[in-house]
Amino acid sequence: MPDTSPLILIVDDVPANIQVLAEALRGEYRVKVATNGATALAIANASESRPDLILLDVMMPEMDGYEVCHKLKSTPSTQNIPVIFVTAKGDVIDEERGLQAGAVDYIIKPFHLAIVKARVSNHISLKIKTDMLETLALIDGLTGVPNRRRLDEALNNEWKRGMREQQSLAIIMSDIDFFKAYNDHYGHGAGDQCLKAVAKALFNTLNRPSDMMARYGGEEFIAVLPHTDLQGAMQMAERWRQSIEELQIPHECSAVAHHVTISLGCAAMIPSNNLTPQMLLKQADQMLYRAKKNGRNRVGSSLT
Ligand code: GH3
Ligand code: MG
Ligand code: MG
Repeated sequence: MPDTSPLILIVDDVPANIQVLAEALRGEYRVKVATNGATALAIANASESRPDLILLDVMMPEMDGYEVCHKLKSTPSTQNIPVIFVTAKGDVIDEERGLQAGAVDYIIKPFHLAIVKARVSNHISLKIKTDMLETLALIDGLTGVPNRRRLDEALNNEWKRGMREQQSLAIIMSDIDFFKAYNDHYGHGAGDQCLKAVAKALFNTLNRPSDMMARYGGEEFIAVLPHTDLQGAMQMAERWRQSIEELQIPHECSAVAHHVTISLGCAAMIPSNNLTPQMLLKQADQMLYRAKKNGRNRVGSSLT
């Protein structure tokens, strides 16, 4: 089993200082070390070695600890990593400067190892709780797929990327057919199970790493497909439609089939300044409405 204990990065230009801390923490945590600011930043920025906490020396040649901290705090992917300064600079003014740079704590050398360990432990528990809250806030509790908040974030990012690269960005909006009747007939618990199965099937049907999906509302799921034009989105939407038919979840009260089906709307745009992601969503919604009107269990687009 891979070691998933929290990862601590110790940064100090004096290897002997690193050694004392590393030995004290190694039993409980994974430890990485850096002897200068540039290496510390490289480790913190690599997604596979992103630390849960950084113990940072202040006085180092080339780049000092304040600058390292400032760089960490001004980069989105590293700004949430808690930093504790460990330093011989014991003046109140230094401590204030460290905390203002965004550090969560300030430990003055020479230190008592027991105190360092206790403070590290406190900040690590806080970090784990914060991470959990963030995950919870971006994932839909019922189905486990990203939620609407995460979708809005991803859509805005992909929109900007599509604008820079002048590449088509596509959206698929899907909605379960006669789902109210399903709930009324089979009960809300069965309805929830059905939503989970639908989400799983849709998720497993996406194949590019850059494709993402989210639960958009009650029984609506959306896919965001970068580098995809309308034709490509329609193909993907048809695969989504088939994946739900293949589940063969009985639905006695559907007017279009004996099993659960979905209707889908597709839209694609090359993002530009006079368009918005909301326009893309709105168009997909209109095409979903077209699919519903034309008989459900089908894909709607400006070409249908
Ligand atoms: P249409 O084919 O036109 O989409 O009909 P519909 O009945 O699916 O559409 P409508 O929007 O009227 O109903 C959606 C229903 O989805 C309402 C509600 O009962 C159900 N629903 C929404 N969220 C949940 C949920 O989290 N769990 C369950 N079990 N049902 C939900
Ligand atoms: Mg609906
Ligand atoms: Mg519906």
